[in-house]
Amino acid sequence: MKAIVVFCGSSEGNDTEFAQDAYDLGGTLAKQHIDLIYGGAKIGIMGKVAQGSLDNQGTVIGVIPEFLKRKEVYHDGLSELIITQNMHDRKLRMHKLSDGILMLPGGFGTLEEFFEMLTWAQLGLHPYPIAVLNTNGFYDELLQMLKKMVKKGFVRKENLDAILVDEHIDILLDKMKAFKPLSIPQWMTKEQI
Ligand code: AMP
Repeated sequence: MKAIVVFCGSSEGNDTEFAQDAYDLGGTLAKQHIDLIYGGAKIGIMGKVAQGSLDNQGTVIGVIPEFLKRKEVYHDGLSELIITQNMHDRKLRMHKLSDGILMLPGGFGTLEEFFEMLTWAQLGLHPYPIAVLNTNGFYDELLQMLKKMVKKGFVRKENLDAILVDEHIDILLDKMKAFKPLSIPQWMTKEQI
């Protein structure tokens, strides 16, 4: 893995461990020479993950739409800041720059980005590992809901099993590196998206 896109909250939440884990994740990525691709903000968990990498001499590429630069307070100390026209271009650009997907605690925006990447994987549009850092069990109820979707016949079990989950950064990154994608048609490339 050369670059991981991290989706996470533009807020910090009210458990200090969320921000701490985000900062530590950034540092770990930098030490493992994995570039961080993220939404470009200075605020929330997003800002923490970026700072963790930058403080450890990592490469951080932020991707933010012009209209959000002020609202989400873009980080002006990144290795690179890419400005896009809209949210859709942002997500596509983040996807094209990365070969792994990781979700940290967050809100609606985080879930939206994560699930879009998951559905693209389900359609065979990319072969990258999709992971959840489940800090303090933050996503336990969501994971229960996903299991219910399998039980009730809306999601295939192998698609659920392909989501990598752990509370520990190092273990999760090891799982991502060892990930073997479900077979996807050879002719599929990012250009199909
Ligand atoms: P949140 O988890 O709601 O704090 O949002 C985290 C990030 O997701 C922020 O950078 C939001 O701008 C972004 N976001 C919110 N909605 C969307 C969307 N529909 N598509 C892509 N990114 C989004």
